[in-house]
Amino acid sequence: MNKNSSNIMALAPNTSNKRETVCIFGTGDFGRALGHKIIQAGYPLVFGSRSTQTSNLIPKDAEVLSHAEAAQKAAIIIIAIQRQHYNFLTPLADTLRGKVLVDVSNNLKINQYPESNAEYLAQLVPGAKVVKAFNTVSAWALQSGTLDASRQVFVCGDDMEAKQKVMDIVRALGLTPLDQGSLLAAQEIENYPLQLFPMWKFPILLSLGLTAFFFFYCLTRDVIYPYVYENKDFSFFIAISIPNRICPILALILLALVYLPGVLAAIIQLYRGTKYRRFPDWLDKWMLCRKQLGLVALAFASLHVLYTLVIPIRSFVRWRISSQIISQALNNETEPLNNTNAWLSDSYLALGILGFFLFVLLGITSLPSVSNNVNWREFRFVQSKLGYVTLVLCTAHTLVFGGNRFLSPSSYRWYLPNVYMLSLIVPCIVLVVKFVLIFPCLDKPLTRIRQGWERNPQYSE
Ligand code: NAP
Repeated sequence: MNKNSSNIMALAPNTSNKRETVCIFGTGDFGRALGHKIIQAGYPLVFGSRSTQTSNLIPKDAEVLSHAEAAQKAAIIIIAIQRQHYNFLTPLADTLRGKVLVDVSNNLKINQYPESNAEYLAQLVPGAKVVKAFNTVSAWALQSGTLDASRQVFVCGDDMEAKQKVMDIVRALGLTPLDQGSLLAAQEIENYPLQLFPMWKFPILLSLGLTAFFFFYCLTRDVIYPYVYENKDFSFFIAISIPNRICPILALILLALVYLPGVLAAIIQLYRGTKYRRFPDWLDKWMLCRKQLGLVALAFASLHVLYTLVIPIRSFVRWRISSQIISQALNNETEPLNNTNAWLSDSYLALGILGFFLFVLLGITSLPSVSNNVNWREFRFVQSKLGYVTLVLCTAHTLVFGGNRFLSPSSYRWYLPNVYMLSLIVPCIVLVVKFVLIFPCLDKPLTRIRQGWERNPQYSE
């Protein structure tokens, strides 16, 4: 036999048809859902329960026995029971000696107990080999088969052999085990399911805050002002006009905020003359949630597209067009085509369409299934170079839309500038600073710093 074939043997999963019996303590939601999958994977299954009566809900090929009887039948026992009931295991300590106990439990709060549930289980049954696994998979996902998002199963434990056995079961269920090390990692693994979109908190809160600000800003300028000075009721603007103003503004500002931390980081590195000093915490955190910021921005841009598509069927718009035509007919005059306006309108639409197309492309390449298939250089090209092109196109789209209106005094209501002008502040700052950073006198030292060069080396010989 050649050397390669022995390697293949070592890497191949256990293909023997005979599978070891698995025991699950607890016939609750999770125990039953996992039980179904384990039987489907070809493992004989026995449940350990307080009541040995079977029901329709329990997989029909599984036996239901008392805890002690069930434990004697298997070397691997999955404890699908809440931590607060673990005390019932103490009298079973002798039966459980040498067995692999799989702790699947979760808590209601982060760091609820001083030690992890898995470590607590190991203290209660010192003769057993405790492995933490399956806690990030939900009973619902196991039952409905919608495991695409949660295919990964974090596994940790002090006994390598026990951990391997559990990882074999995980693989047999069509899931991917991720070895997280010793049982010390259990606390962190138990905290995973309790985290509520940690990377999304800042982008969502920021966009909610900006939405509220721009909503009241537009309400004041576009609804309250005409009501007070012209006695006109434009309150229906709240339904489409104002959202269609807020969405592009937020899309543009959030897109600029994706690129602002990179620009700030470059300035900090140039100032310090090294890349080996940590950025301030707030900048680190900001950089980590850039993908989420970009996806929220894309969501706002998509809403803007939808709101724009319905403009021609709006009653207000149809009324305005027909009243313009009637007024021309009554005055017996025909307004000639204004070529400049036609150019401006077509250019701003074209810039918007191209900007949105690249925006969608950026969103698609940030999906793990796509980003995993491109190399680092390709990913950086799309996210950085094409990202800046998107920002330029979207900023130009807004600039052309505004035209020279910011020069007209009538566009300032109660001294408040038109809202599109506010939306241009952050993107213009980012683009101007980025443009300055491209100059060789700044770009060259920055590139050297990023390759490890230091202006004042800390550890010089
Ligand atoms: P559950 O539906 O409430 O079932 C828990 C089972 O524990 C009961 O059916 C019962 O089984 C047993 N039990 C209850 N009190 C007991 C006691 N005093 N002594 C001994 N056994 C007792 O809960 P679950 O949703 O299946 O969750 C079970 C474990 O899985 C929990 O630790 C949970 O954190 C974890 N988990 C659940 C999910 C999920 O999606 N549900 C996901 C990941 C992890 P018998 O009647 O057969 O004795």
